[in-house]
Amino acid sequence: MAHFPLSDGRPPWRAQVLTLFPEMFPGPLGVSLIGQALEAGIWSLDTIQIRDFGLGRHRQVDDTPAGGGAGMVLRADVLGPALDHARERAPAAPLIYLSPRGTPLTQQLARDLAEGPGVTLLAGRFEGVDQRVIDEKGLKEISIGDYVLAGGEVAAMVLIEACVRLLPGVLGAAESLASESFETGLLEYPQYTKPREWEGRAIPEILLSGDHKKIAEWRQRQAEELTAARRPDLIRPTRHAK
Ligand code: SAM
Repeated sequence: MAHFPLSDGRPPWRAQVLTLFPEMFPGPLGVSLIGQALEAGIWSLDTIQIRDFGLGRHRQVDDTPAGGGAGMVLRADVLGPALDHARERAPAAPLIYLSPRGTPLTQQLARDLAEGPGVTLLAGRFEGVDQRVIDEKGLKEISIGDYVLAGGEVAAMVLIEACVRLLPGVLGAAESLASESFETGLLEYPQYTKPREWEGRAIPEILLSGDHKKIAEWRQRQAEELTAARRPDLIRPTRHAK
């Protein structure tokens, strides 16, 4: 079934998204390197319309929150069968609910997910989903940041893009990943390109020296200083033996 296996021999990485707005996909995932990888069969994308599992003539998917309050909640008896359908199609893929309450998405989490068979993602809407479906189906909640979006679709795209660019064969040069922010535990050093001077600002002399050892040392120092200034939380405290 794997017509275009990944260069490491795995079958294509598979993303499924349960959504009320399948027309949002592939959207930005259909362009540039990620889109080319989709076309090449390195990964695949399927959407599942939640409304297809809706109830009654109007295919109702939501209802008012138990206990009162504003907004609507996606029903467990709609999402349950939708998730079962998704799980039948991709039994090994983790079931993930994009949620501001979830575990923060990090480079490490993206790497772990990229190493697996793919992901099945539930994009919420309204006030979110009935807690019972999260508990019953064992959904892992993942957040893309401490802010609230209108729906989970954009968050699903963020997660998919972060994973797909790590799949073998997606990025041209393997080394373009090696020094990136978070890959080394640090933010990336500053990058420069031609022209040598722009609006009175010159490229740091060391980068033009041809001395690769010195350049590597300079980049490491820059990465450390930048990380200490902007994201000290990324630098693990040294453990002192007692
Ligand atoms: N009432 C929810 C709360 O306060 O936690 C927010 C619901 S939000 C308006 C609707 C949907 O957007 C959520 O069900 C979730 O799927 C998605 N969403 C919103 N913010 C998100 C975030 N930071 N990360 C991942 N998904 C998010």
